[in-house]
Amino acid sequence: MSDPYAWLERSLRTLHQAHWYRDVKTITGRTGSVVTVEGQDLINFASNDYLGLAGDKRLIQAARDATQTYGTGSTGSRLLTGHRPIHQQLEQAIAALKQTEAALVFSSGYLANIGTIAALVGKRDLVVGDQYNHSSLKKGAILSGATVRDYRHVDLDDLAQQLQTQRAHYRRCLITTDTVFSMDGDLCPLPGLLALAEQYEAMVLVDEAHATGVLGDRGAGVVEHYGCTGQSLIQMGTLSKALGSLGGYVAGSAPLIDFLRNRAPSWIYTTGLTPADTAAAIAAIEIVNQEPERRSRLWDNTAKLKALLSAHFQVLPSDSPILCIQLHSPQDALQLAQRFQNQGIFAPAIRPPTVPTSRLRFSVMAIHTPEQLNQFESLLALL
Ligand SMILES: *Cc1c(COP(=O)(O)O)cnc(C)c1O
Repeated sequence: MSDPYAWLERSLRTLHQAHWYRDVKTITGRTGSVVTVEGQDLINFASNDYLGLAGDKRLIQAARDATQTYGTGSTGSRLLTGHRPIHQQLEQAIAALKQTEAALVFSSGYLANIGTIAALVGKRDLVVGDQYNHSSLKKGAILSGATVRDYRHVDLDDLAQQLQTQRAHYRRCLITTDTVFSMDGDLCPLPGLLALAEQYEAMVLVDEAHATGVLGDRGAGVVEHYGCTGQSLIQMGTLSKALGSLGGYVAGSAPLIDFLRNRAPSWIYTTGLTPADTAAAIAAIEIVNQEPERRSRLWDNTAKLKALLSAHFQVLPSDSPILCIQLHSPQDALQLAQRFQNQGIFAPAIRPPTVPTSRLRFSVMAIHTPEQLNQFESLLALL
């Protein structure tokens, strides 16, 4: 008899050999523009906390207050015992930010994508997505049972070609795309994509995970950035990046949201968002609305860091606070990450299979100080 689990260790050995193996890093203390990683203080270019809200006193206080009022857990699915007044308040705040009729919060962005796609399309339908889409869009499409096709990254000609040859064979069609590509930092060509969707009678699901709170004059995301507010499309995002909390959302028309409340399995059959996460997200949206200067600082810092990195490295094209240094191999990425870490800089190596080519990824924050950026500049010279 052979051990039915023996393949696990063989697979792990293969991952190690390919330099694809991943492991956790322990961060102690409160998050911010400096984090303590395994005992060492590092300038933090590794978080998705673009506005620096995850460590903000107001979010922390809101989470404490909600916990005092409602307890730690929401105790059930939203349709049973898991719905509180703050869930409705958060959904209204999201709809107001996105200027949609309604919104629905999920326990994570990943669950929002999986549940929404599964609710919208099935066996008789087609999903066409950008090849660099986030895992949650890709896995959601597969789980839905629809036919799934990728189009070349931000290539509208390829998308048009696929719609031209495929659309007629299917009942419904859904186009999916990240708006800010999470591992590259570039933007989807939204206006052209919406025009194609209209031409081919396709629904559009945009993933604003890295755009909400960051892009657009009011921080509503890439939809606002391109002046597409009010167009019929489905916007999802997360509460766990610029909003500093945990959870996901979908924003769109009232019938869409009503339908998802009835048909999205990852919303119906899971416990409602905790009071603490819900209240922290409400506080974050308030800050996004009230403090546009945070976004200005974020973009100033982004321009500064981009100039510094570009002087020394090949930086991938980016229109967001995500800046990537292109590298030749996973080993190169791991070694450069280690050299940066030795100099007090925390920026993660991103390797296959997450991305096709290895890179070092920097996420800029509004709360990086001029001193920290100056320090970064002097360190670059030493590298
Ligand atoms: C992070 C991310 C998600 C998942 O959001 P979570 O709330 O962390 O589950 C979905 N899509 C994209 C593009 C992301 O970057």
